[in-house]
Amino acid sequence: MAAAVIAPVTGEPRLVDPGRPHVGLEDQALTRGDGVFETMHVLDGRAYKFAAHHARLCTSAGIAGLPAPSAQTCRAALAMALDAAGPGSRDTALDLGAEHSVKLSISRGEPGGEPWAWLTVSPVPEQAFAARRDGVSVLLLDRGHDPAEDAELPWLLPGVKTLSYAVNMAAVRHARAHGAQDAVFTTSTDRRILEGATSSVVCARTRDDAAPTLLTPEPSRGILPGTSQARIFDTARRHGWGVDHGPLYPEDLLTADAVWLTSSVRLAVPVTAVDGHEIPTDPVLTRTLTDFLVGSPRG
Ligand code: PLP
Repeated sequence: MAAAVIAPVTGEPRLVDPGRPHVGLEDQALTRGDGVFETMHVLDGRAYKFAAHHARLCTSAGIAGLPAPSAQTCRAALAMALDAAGPGSRDTALDLGAEHSVKLSISRGEPGGEPWAWLTVSPVPEQAFAARRDGVSVLLLDRGHDPAEDAELPWLLPGVKTLSYAVNMAAVRHARAHGAQDAVFTTSTDRRILEGATSSVVCARTRDDAAPTLLTPEPSRGILPGTSQARIFDTARRHGWGVDHGPLYPEDLLTADAVWLTSSVRLAVPVTAVDGHEIPTDPVLTRTLTDFLVGSPRG
């Protein structure tokens, strides 16, 4: 792993030793999860969705009342950490190139102190490659309330990618304890599909005589607007595919021709079962969605 620190967020990035401590014990990222972050994918040294990630980081930071480092500063931090990182890892099945996972976080800092940011670069883990290859079974889990109700309540940080992922991780643990590999949140009232614990939900309807149609839940309804889903939809639209936003219900996933969890590092992960019911996967479509996401031909 390699790391750079931007402290304060308006300052210059500096390369740091990731093996050394850099966070104070009273830092509010640590004590309260009070901060925001982005996870990016780097392919052959290029963060191909950088602008979308920086825009979402700025939106998250703005709603949370935090300053964000400029795109130029983040790019400089990324370049120096990538330089110091190892060669990355390779997905032998997909053969996309050298892959790195990048995490860019902003903390409110110590009480009375200054917000600061840091960036880490690591090889993409083997579990991500396995998920792309083998897919995941999911459990639909009640989100407890409809996040659309939070949309006008900025203190609930609607659609913000906060550092407080304890609930998301608890959902994945719950799914695993109950025989599935990942979790998808639904509303309690009408069981509308929201998003995965760390991903967006995309499904496809195919007809022999027409281009496939991709569907995803409405991003404006209190869920995180996924940069991967957006990139896939933009490219699919340019290829003449149909693209549409939900609402989607469990039945839509069970009757779809294929369903994926999309996210920046795992890319397009096929869903193999929903609540114990097997659903079809489509390896050709999965490859196409992956190419839509990372760019094909690459560049
Ligand atoms: N929804 C949630 C809750 C997430 O945590 C993530 C990614 O971490 C996503 C959706 C997908 O976002 P992206 O495609 O930008 O990685």
